[in-house]
Amino acid sequence: MSQPLIPPFGAPVHLRDYDPDYLDGSSKKDAKKDLKKKLAAAMEADQQRLDMLQEALYAEGKHALLIVLQGMDTSGKDGTIRHVFSSVDPQGVQVTSFKVPTADELARDFLWRIHRAVPPKGMIGIFNRSQYEDVLVVRVHNLVPESIWRERYDHINRFEEMLHEHGTTILKFFLHISKAEQKKRLTERRDTPEKQWKFSLGDLKERAYWEDYQAAYEAVLTHCNTPYAPWHIVPANSKWYRNYIIARTVREALERLNPQFPTPEKGIESVEILD
Ligand code: ADP
Repeated sequence: MSQPLIPPFGAPVHLRDYDPDYLDGSSKKDAKKDLKKKLAAAMEADQQRLDMLQEALYAEGKHALLIVLQGMDTSGKDGTIRHVFSSVDPQGVQVTSFKVPTADELARDFLWRIHRAVPPKGMIGIFNRSQYEDVLVVRVHNLVPESIWRERYDHINRFEEMLHEHGTTILKFFLHISKAEQKKRLTERRDTPEKQWKFSLGDLKERAYWEDYQAAYEAVLTHCNTPYAPWHIVPANSKWYRNYIIARTVREALERLNPQFPTPEKGIESVEILD
């Protein structure tokens, strides 16, 4: 059965309806191998195109692109940034990772630190975690009263609408993995020397709240999925499929923006360049 990447707007989202192993309709082992090969080639083409489109976006300087990455621990936020954007000029991309807020940040409204990090026109901004932490970890652990976090869905929608109206294209990706896949990845982190630095006991504590997080994500995907800032539920148990889907979606969004190189100054063809 085919599975939508963007859930229908305005309808409640149930994550059990979205298979984290979904692969474009093919589930058989051989088909998977063929698909992997085919999509690897498609992804390479998308990445080359992304590089060109980013350069035009920068040169034109009219639009910004904001990419929001959210997902459970080990869902692949870092891996996505490393793989999908490896071909793009680092000068045109700014990555912001949102951690536990500092005292300075907590003394402001929750969108203050987010707004400061949105990309200027001409740039691609990537959020590794985002404003959504304030209705995810904050909700799961009751870090503020419910009356406060409940209002935030609406605050976020209005904030994103304002960004959209001011020339920022917003794409939000939920990297959807299963609890079993998380166990596999945590085990690999624990047992691989080069990955152990990423293993934290805190991640195990958060894993115990798996169901609460799934419910908090369902609320986000239900309340904050809008035509001006859509959520994409990316089947992320396969890393190569996740990367392919995100590269393709970003490439398509940039193509819709259709950035153009500015017209050169008149007469430059005949300007003499002195020795
Ligand atoms: P990573 O993103 O690689 O997991 P860390 O291990 O430093 O990086 O985790 C960042 C932590 O900061 C996460 O546990 C996340 O839930 C937390 N965090 C981010 N934003 C907020 C927030 N607004 N309120 C509370 N905790 C937050």
